Amino acid sequence: MRKNIVAGNWKMNLTFQEAEDLIDEIANGLDEENLKCEVVVCPPAPYLEIASDYADVSRLRAGAQNVSEYEKGAYTGEISAMMLASIELEYCIVGHSERRRYFRETNGQIARKIDRLLDYSIHPIFCCGEVLEEREQNRQFDVVKQQIEESLFHLTSEEFSNIVIAYEPVWAIGTGKTATPAQAQEMHAFIRKLIAGKYGEEAARETSILYGGSCNASNAKELFANPDVDGGLIGGASLKKDEFLKITMSF
Ligand code: PEP
Repeated sequence: MRKNIVAGNWKMNLTFQEAEDLIDEIANGLDEENLKCEVVVCPPAPYLEIASDYADVSRLRAGAQNVSEYEKGAYTGEISAMMLASIELEYCIVGHSERRRYFRETNGQIARKIDRLLDYSIHPIFCCGEVLEEREQNRQFDVVKQQIEESLFHLTSEEFSNIVIAYEPVWAIGTGKTATPAQAQEMHAFIRKLIAGKYGEEAARETSILYGGSCNASNAKELFANPDVDGGLIGGASLKKDEFLKITMSF
């Protein structure tokens, strides 16, 4: 079901104590009465259970940053979807550009990760987006189309209804360069059209599509005001309590 979502991707940051404090401050700082979005934090794996415990008693929701493409077994260092489900996580980021770039994740691997998550009813937050060179060559639509087709379009309609998409132009991640609201809207509308072509108009209308890339408390309102932007995947700004809480109130 389509909903507004603000999800914080903490990446590889914070100690256990810092993570516990930040989760506590965010959970207790949410203006639950006036909140118009689902708020998700995605801390590093060792801190996921803290977030999951807070999800039991507050409006905060918990997500992981990655999952194994394998089910179980001799895969040292990997974390399975079953493990994430066993601590009741509701979301998991997949296909983040940092994983594509530094860990060489392919669209095929990302597809398998999505399958594992859906086996355990965890909502994948599927990241897609072009690098600067691709935008400069005006290839951003082809790139995003290929990422979506190769990682998502094997799903049945029912499976697809559990997907959240995050459009994250790679040139905007951690750079302070945000896509303009018009650029975000243009790509989100394109993605919705792609979904309509494969799964029908209703599925397209019902999919949450988030924007990510240097989104902060100053620009969130303008980005989220676009008809096809349903919130944000927030990196740097999600580590600052006041900034993140402001973003959650930007609808
Ligand atoms: C991200 O890593 O998903 C992200 C959007 O990062 P930032 O907000 O720091 O650009």
